[in-house]
Amino acid sequence: MALHHRGAAVTLYSDKAPLWPPPLEAVMRRMRVDVRPGMPADEIERGPVVHAGASTQEFDLVLLATAAVPQPWLRASGLACDERGFLLTDDMLRSVAHPDVFAAGDCATPSSGPLPRSGVYALRQGEALAASFRNVVRGQEPVVYRPQRHALVLISCGRRYALAHRGHWSAQGRWVWWWKNHIDRKWVKSLTV
Ligand SMILES: Cc1cc2nc3c(=O)[nH]c(=O)nc-3n(C[C@H](O)[C@H](O)[C@H](O)COP(=O)(O)OP(=O)(O)OC[C@H]3O[C@@H](n4cnc5c(N)ncnc54)[C@H](O)[C@@H]3O)c2cc1C
Repeated sequence: MALHHRGAAVTLYSDKAPLWPPPLEAVMRRMRVDVRPGMPADEIERGPVVHAGASTQEFDLVLLATAAVPQPWLRASGLACDERGFLLTDDMLRSVAHPDVFAAGDCATPSSGPLPRSGVYALRQGEALAASFRNVVRGQEPVVYRPQRHALVLISCGRRYALAHRGHWSAQGRWVWWWKNHIDRKWVKSLTV
């Protein structure tokens, strides 16, 4: 939607169907983004030309925005990993096989069940990790990390319009954009020295 906002004609291929969060697909269509849910890109060849099922389409530019993958050295390290190669951690963010090794954020999968690999979860894990390190150097137990049940998703749609989603609740409009803008600016300011 940002690319469309800048004047590009955009086609989105996705293996997901429907897209998540639920109102996203309708908003994108309304913004005239050509959305193709359930159509994974099978091949990209020089051109660039995208092959997806029976569809073949030539573009000026192809951008890949696929999910996080683990670093190959994690599996080679001998630390316990899930079937994809992310580090398996306990509820104190420690490696299940090597409790002296901590892992948080995108590189880890909690053994209690996978979490979304997104900044909002990585950030909270980072806070728990910092608290654990302080405890460990004092000879105390690491803190237990309890993930939030739902996270607020805010997606800017261009033209100062945005989409919000949390749990079963959704909202969209210009006010959501101003809300997101306020949160983002406040966050960046908190990191500015
Ligand atoms: C384009 C894009 C847009 C995104 N938008 C959002 C969003 O809007 N909202 C949201 O919540 N999430 C978003 N995410 C996801 C979010 O950025 C990640 O979930 C989050 O950054 C994960 O934090 P992390 O600290 O686990 O990993 P990272 O932020 O990836 O940090 C890992 C760090 O480790 C360093 N590193 C890697 N290997 C080594 C090594 N061998 N030695 C030392 N250092 C190393 C890397 O350079 C990097 O700095 C987005 C991700 C991408 C790619």
